Amino acid sequence: MISFSHELAFIDGLTGIPGRRALENEMRHLGRRYSLAMMDIDHFKKFNDTYGHKMGDDVLRLVAAVMQRCEGGAKVYRYGGEEFTILFKGKSAIQCESYLNELRQDIAEYELAIRNHDERSKEGKAGADKRGTVEKSNTVKVTISIGLADQTHGNSPQDVMKQADEALYKAKENGRNRLELA
Ligand code: GH3
Ligand code: MG
Ligand code: MG
Repeated sequence: MISFSHELAFIDGLTGIPGRRALENEMRHLGRRYSLAMMDIDHFKKFNDTYGHKMGDDVLRLVAAVMQRCEGGAKVYRYGGEEFTILFKGKSAIQCESYLNELRQDIAEYELAIRNHDERSKEGKAGADKRGTVEKSNTVKVTISIGLADQTHGNSPQDVMKQADEALYKAKENGRNRLELA
């Protein structure tokens, strides 16, 4: 019971996946070989500005859920805001690359349904009739950028995270919706 509530305290309230504190805890128990990916949703401020903060929250929940399907022994955390971290224990960066690129593609291809309640209520019945035919095209997509680094001799987990962060910055600079290795 005590350990259960302990775990609950480490769960992110919005997405239901482990949060920053859980990651920090896990980083104290890493073995000799692991990889760490820092991931950030692209142009998310613009997404919020366009579709609203509630829709933004929906996207965060969805992205978190899709991330949790990542293979290769990935452990996913919400680092904060629209940033996520994945840990792969016992794997080099090269070994994780394909799993992360599959995840990146899964997210880029995911069609998010748009729910604009205000507009619909203004449209009335005509709008409701019309919606039946246009519903399918009322979707948007988001992309993520990824920076990936692995443990090398003498590097602390904080060093590895810093390298992954720098690689993420490169991924943004190089056009987003891509993965860069440290
Ligand atoms: P970039 O491609 O460079 O990452 O651009 P960006 O717009 O994603 O980056 P920026 O850091 O400027 O904006 C991050 C945005 O993420 C701003 C903030 O409103 C949004 N955000 C952070 N946390 C949440 C949240 O919990 N819910 C919602 N809806 N938005 C959030
Ligand atoms: Mg960010
Ligand atoms: Mg972003």
